[in-house]
Amino acid sequence: MIIDLRSDTVTKPNKAMLDAMFAAPVGDDVFNEDPTINALEVKSAALFGHEAALFCPSGTMTNQIAIKCHTQPGNELICDINSHIYNYEGGGISSNSGVQAKLIQGDRGRITAEQIEQHINPDYDWLSQTSLVCLENTVNRAGGSYYKLDDIKKIKQLCQQKHLPLHLDGARIFNALVESNYTSQDIGKHFDSISICLSKGLGAPVGSLLVGNKAFIKKARRVRKVFGGGMRQAGFLAAAGIYALDNNITRLRDDHHRAKQIEAVLNSMPYVESILPVDTNIIIFNLTDKYTAVSFEEALKPYNIKLAAFGKQTIRFVTHLDFTDDMLAIVIDVLKKM
Ligand SMILES: *Cc1c(COP(=O)(O)O)cnc(C)c1O
Repeated sequence: MIIDLRSDTVTKPNKAMLDAMFAAPVGDDVFNEDPTINALEVKSAALFGHEAALFCPSGTMTNQIAIKCHTQPGNELICDINSHIYNYEGGGISSNSGVQAKLIQGDRGRITAEQIEQHINPDYDWLSQTSLVCLENTVNRAGGSYYKLDDIKKIKQLCQQKHLPLHLDGARIFNALVESNYTSQDIGKHFDSISICLSKGLGAPVGSLLVGNKAFIKKARRVRKVFGGGMRQAGFLAAAGIYALDNNITRLRDDHHRAKQIEAVLNSMPYVESILPVDTNIIIFNLTDKYTAVSFEEALKPYNIKLAAFGKQTIRFVTHLDFTDDMLAIVIDVLKKM
């Protein structure tokens, strides 16, 4: 048995999800004729209280399309220094949109309205025009932390005042929703565009959605085609997404519960120097000089436990749909032996 804690993207569809996929009615989505994709888009838009949505192959694409639609070349966007759009999308902010990023050091990936306000450029010819604010919720690189609704509200108010669109990288927004006291509708109200991933905690094999108003999604559809993301009979994939939204949201709590149990063990291990608070399903910790990330990875290999080396002394574990209580027991046992 392999215990794969590298990411929540490693899950595989179960029988029920595969059955839903095989049964899906499909058509050519570039002609808007795939009934299953249309149904998924309607469902996702409604979930966040928006008018429309667009099915795309990846969360990188939904984020990059949003950035392209909200900006002009030469503009600047504001985001946290740990954000996925800046760190893990291949430099797409600059190569796809000709935009630069103003990076803010947030509190575990969460930036505040005050910080954003300080970094909005005044209207001088020699400064780049600030034209977009991007938040991430939950924050991957900062250990799955999530925003408080009040902090999002303040950011939204500022953005409205300054006429700046606000985009959410919500690759793991459902992890935030099951843990916090706000709903998808609450979130929807505060963002002009939202990217959600079906292939992370929700367990679908492929797919992300970009959510927004009709005019924005019309523009986004054109950009998706230009980026090469116009798919044909992809309703087979969308069916997995519908299944995931219907069945796999509330169970994310189990992933969080298991992550917290791993956190508790790591907290008492002498080889752990520090660990980021575990708020959802991501565990990031630093090793003392007993191990490097590489030697720790090697040490877990004989037990078939896979992890992500996140830095020279830093490890990331992510819990997910295919990580069971039996696996958790093994992991806890092994971590105590290290
Ligand atoms: C995974 C992820 C994405 C999108 O990744 P894809 O692999 O392109 O689907 C975007 N943002 C965050 C925070 C992520 O973790």
